[in-house]
Amino acid sequence: MVVVMKLNTNAEQIATLDNRLKAGGFQTHLIKGVKRIVIGAVGDRQHEDLSGLESMPGVEKVLRIMKPYKLVCREVQEEDTVLKVGGINIGGNKLTVIAGPCAVESKEQLLAAAYAVRRSGAGVLRGGAYKPRTSPYSFQGLEEEGVRLLAEVGAQTGLATVTEVVDEESLITAARYVDILQIGARNMQNFRLLRLAGQAGKPILLKRGLSATVEEWLMAAEYIVSAGNGEVILCERGIRTFENSTRNTLDLSAVALAKRLTHLPVIVDPSHATGKRELVGPMSRAAVAAGADGLIIEVHPDPAAALCDGHQSLEPDEFDRLMTKLRPLAAAMGREMR
Ligand code: PEP
Ligand code: MN
Repeated sequence: MVVVMKLNTNAEQIATLDNRLKAGGFQTHLIKGVKRIVIGAVGDRQHEDLSGLESMPGVEKVLRIMKPYKLVCREVQEEDTVLKVGGINIGGNKLTVIAGPCAVESKEQLLAAAYAVRRSGAGVLRGGAYKPRTSPYSFQGLEEEGVRLLAEVGAQTGLATVTEVVDEESLITAARYVDILQIGARNMQNFRLLRLAGQAGKPILLKRGLSATVEEWLMAAEYIVSAGNGEVILCERGIRTFENSTRNTLDLSAVALAKRLTHLPVIVDPSHATGKRELVGPMSRAAVAAGADGLIIEVHPDPAAALCDGHQSLEPDEFDRLMTKLRPLAAAMGREMR
C-alpha cells in the first residue's frame, strides 16, 4: 500500500503515520518525490481495513498496490527517479552514456580508454575487475588492483566509475573505490547479494538476468530498494533465445515496458546484447529511440589485444562516430546528452 501525503504535510504528521503503520505490522519506506512525499507500506495485510488511515492528518489518499514490486512501480512514484552520481544526473531527461573496457587490464589501457570516451562525451567509465567468466581458464580480472585503478583513473579524468561485484567481499572492496556497483546478469537472482547491495550506500546498476522475465527483473530491483537503497539503474543486456547468430537477443520491448512499469532509470547494453561490434551502433540508436535513459558500451583502445570481449568492443574512433550520430537522436527524444 502507498500513503500519499498532502503537499503541505509536516514532519510530525509523517512520524505519527509511520508509527501507526509500523504498529500495524507494516515495513515502511519514505519516498521523497519532487513534488510530494509518499510512504510505501509493505506487509502481508492485504485485506485489512485501511479506511481509518485516510482520515489521519496530512494524508491525501491511500492506494493499494496490486503489483508484487511495491516500491519500484510507477504507481508509487509517477515521476522518474533521477540519480546523482559524481557531477551527473542519471534518469529524467538525461541520456547517460557509460563506456569503457570490458575488463580493467592495466593503468595504460584504462587511461587510454577513459580519455577517449570522455572526449566523445561519455559521463561514466566502466571496467570489470571481478569478471564472471564462463570458463575458469579465461582472464578473471585484476580484482582489488582493478578497482584501485578505476578510482585513480576516475579521479584523473573526472569520470564517475562503475564496476561489477560478484559476492560480499568484492562488493565491500569495490564500494570503497567506485561510484556505481554493477550486479551482473548471472547474479540478478542472487538474493543475498541483492540485499547486501541494498546496504552498500552506492547506486546499483542491475542487469537483467539471462532468462529473467521483466517481473523477475523488477522484483530483483525491489530486493535492493526494500533493503534500503533506492538508487537502482536497470539495464537490459539481451536475453537467451533460440537465436544464436547474436550473443543474446536484445529485448527492446522490455525497455519500453519497464519504463512504463517503474520509475527507475532503464539503460541498454548493446555490447553484451549483440556480441558484435558492427551491431552496437544500430542497437544503441534503437535503444535511444525506444526511450532508454542511457547506454553502457564496451570501448577498448585496442580491441584486437583485449583480454575480454574484444570482438564486441568499439575502437575509440568508432565510439566517437556513434556519439555524433546519437546527439540529434537524443535531442529528437527530448533528452540532453552530456
Ligand atoms: C559486463 O558488463 O561486463 C557483463 C559481464 O555483463 P552481463 O552481466 O550483462 O553479462
Ligand atoms: Mn564484456
